[in-house]
Order: sequence, then structure tokens, then C-alpha cells
Amino acid sequence: MTSILIIYTGGTIGMVEAEDRKTLVPFNLSHILDQVPELKKLDVKLDSASFEKPIDSSDMQPKHWLQMARIIEENYLKYDGFVILHGSDTLAYSASALSFMLDGMRKPVILTGSQLPIGMIRTDARENLITAVEMAALTKNGEPVIQEVAIYFEYKLYRGNRTTKVSAEAFEAFSSPNYPLLAEAGVHIEVNYARLFRPKSEQFDVHHNLDASVGVLTLFPGISEEQLLAQIGTENQRALVLQSFGSGNASQQPWFLEALKSAIDNGLIVLNITQCMKGKVEQGKYATSQALLEMGVIGGSDLTLEAAITKLMVLLGHSDDPVWIKAHLNSNIRGEMSIA
Ligand code: ASP
Repeated sequence: MTSILIIYTGGTIGMVEAEDRKTLVPFNLSHILDQVPELKKLDVKLDSASFEKPIDSSDMQPKHWLQMARIIEENYLKYDGFVILHGSDTLAYSASALSFMLDGMRKPVILTGSQLPIGMIRTDARENLITAVEMAALTKNGEPVIQEVAIYFEYKLYRGNRTTKVSAEAFEAFSSPNYPLLAEAGVHIEVNYARLFRPKSEQFDVHHNLDASVGVLTLFPGISEEQLLAQIGTENQRALVLQSFGSGNASQQPWFLEALKSAIDNGLIVLNITQCMKGKVEQGKYATSQALLEMGVIGGSDLTLEAAITKLMVLLGHSDDPVWIKAHLNSNIRGEMSIA
């Protein structure tokens, strides 16, 4: 029988009203499992593990990603797949981080959560949990169908590092604007086999070191030199995600280009992603991105913000060699970006 480990980290899915009856706070895992007796009817052996203190995912930190990765690492040989219950707010960050931390993984890690707590009548939690387990348990020719970090929400399975939270209201809270669905659950589960990720490495290996010395600068018309300098002048900052306009364009004002170039000359790694939901950075297409290309800004193609930040954290944690880091930023390591 297929065996799946459910890992509970917190989030709305398991929340109950606080004593003040005004706010929602995380509760324990058995409360969740008690609400879904149907899980026992699945032809799957289920075990569970939980954060000692479940959290609202807005409190998520890299140390929590490490905690999740360690649970998977310690149980990798014991289970056929893993389902992580997680708050939706930073779920796409955790999925992206785990995708880069877990190297050579040949088993599914599916993150899910819900917009309404599992104890509520109209909750979306039950379906999300049941189908996430079913997706994790899918096998074909004796091997797991999903062999990557994915997100399941509201009938859709997405690649984790392509996904972003787009609604604080709708049950369909996530979107993968630049990569097709991995699977969809209707009457049947339809798998998009051609789009599934398969690791190159034969060896399962977990990257435990994350370096969070990464900044994010979102450009806007009217940004001042002081604002730019505040973002690129932080002590110990090793990398900057630049959220530029359109296909990777930025202002050509000399103070802007000079400040950015001097930061790069002093060792800052700058990764250019677009503020647009769809499409990708193509440095050199317009004159307004040519200067970025020339000064050594790295084009991030169609990386999501979540994937850009977490990819940098994992690469910076792995190496001090800027040449190695830049080479990996330019390559598609876990299906996170489209390369022409
Ligand atoms: N604030 C909650 C969390 O991210 C929201 C949710 O779970 O949907 O933990």
C-alpha cells in the first residue's frame, strides 16, 4: 500500500477561533484529521508529523523550511510521498524554497492549505487535503507520478516554484501564470504528463544552508536615489532581486544606472525579474534594458518573485563563488523558469 506522511505546519486549514472569538489561531493536527474521516477510506497508509508549535504562515522563516526539509529527509525512504499542510500566505515561498533545497528527489512533496478553516461548513480544506493525498499517492509503472514539489489548491496541481498567491478571497487562491498545470481534478484526475519535472541527479540530497542576505527592489516611476541606495547599500547584502518593468526594463537616468553598476562592481548579484504576471525578462530587447545587460545584471526570465528570492537564498548558501552562482541563476535547475 502507498504510504504518505502528512506534515502539519499551521495555517488557516487547522485554525480555530481564539478565546477573544475575533481572531483565528493555529490548532493541532488531530483536530484536522478528525474532521476528515474519509481519509481512512483511501487506499493509502497515512502517518503524520507536526511542527511542535504550528504557525500562521506569515511567520514563516527559512529555519521553518529547514525544519520541513529535515522531516522529509529523515523520512525519505520510509514514505512514498509527502503532503505538507501550510498557510496559504507564504505557501508559494515555501514550495519554491523546498524545490531548490531538495535535490534529486524522486517522490512527491505536495503543499496544500485552505482559505477557510477545516471546521467550517463551507470549507475548502477537506477537498484540498483529500485530493492532495490522492495526487501524492499516484503511481505509474511502479514509480510516483509526481516527483517534484507541487501545490494543490481548488482542483489544480501546480509546479511549486511557478506558483504565486493571487487571491485573499477566492478558493482558487493560486495561479501559475507562466507554466501549465501539472494535473487537474475533475471526475477523474487528469495528469499533464509532458509537463512533469524529472530530476537529473540520481542522488537525493538536501541543501541545508540558506543565506537570506537578499533584498528586493520594486521599481516605480518616481523612485528616488535615496530609496535605491537604501535598498542596495545594506551591509552584508549579497544579492538583489530587481522587479523591473515589462520585459526587464528600467529607467535610464544616469544616477540610477551609475548606482546599480557600482553596486555590481562591488560584488552585488542583481537578478532582474518582471513586475508583470505573465511573460519574461529579455534584456537587450529595448534600449531601456541594454544598460542592465551591459553592467552584468542577470536576466531572470519568467521567475516568480518567490522563486527568485528562494533560489538566491539556496545558491548563496551553497557557494561563495559568484561565477558558480551566476551560472546557476542562468540555468533552469528545477523547472522554475523558461529558457529560450
Ligand atoms: N494567514 C494564514 C496563513 O498563511 C492564511 C491561510 O492559511 O490561508 O497561515
